[in-house]
Amino acid sequence: MQLLEDRIKKDGRVLGEDVLKVDNFLNHQVDPKLMAQLGAEFARLFKDEKIDKVLTVESSGIAPAVFTALDLEVPMVFARKKKSLTLTEENYTADVYSFTKQETNHIIVDKRFIQPGERVLLIDDFLANGQAVQGMMEILDAADAELAGVGIVIEKTFQKGRALLDEANVRVESLARIAAFEDGEVKFADEN
Ligand code: 5GP
Repeated sequence: MQLLEDRIKKDGRVLGEDVLKVDNFLNHQVDPKLMAQLGAEFARLFKDEKIDKVLTVESSGIAPAVFTALDLEVPMVFARKKKSLTLTEENYTADVYSFTKQETNHIIVDKRFIQPGERVLLIDDFLANGQAVQGMMEILDAADAELAGVGIVIEKTFQKGRALLDEANVRVESLARIAAFEDGEVKFADEN
């Protein structure tokens, strides 16, 4: 998506070898107009998938997920992150290791909000090693819900996540695909 790539070029900052900071429009300050455009694009891409619900993880997935759900006219659920966990009967849970924060979070979703048989679209801000998406997939499995696809705002193709999801035959649509960081500059997969 050209609009998003242009914005990343303008406002993204490369940190170290493999992290992109986009706190100017997605991860801290949020550009609602851009988020609405991202949501509309996800809704267009997945419109034939009979989506019942959109699921994401707090907090950075919420903005694109809510606009996607708005356009698909379905509810949006966000998994909550907890450092420690008291397991209860009422929740689905999964462990998610974050390489940016180098810590494991438990993600939890109340059982009332994912029903058996529902077709669920997963949305997240980044696809890196695929841990967040895998955690959400575990929750869908536990709930006997169906994975309808995965929508990612920014994919880093040089990390493991994409290969993992391709192996699992999951439909993944990424709005921007970063192939590399070269001397602190972003190189997109569709650039020469
Ligand atoms: P994964 O679980 O695919 O390894 O990483 C996905 C999660 O890690 C995303 O939800 C996002 O919060 C965070 N993340 C991964 N890579 C980046 C990055 O380059 N920049 C930022 N800001 N967050 C990232």
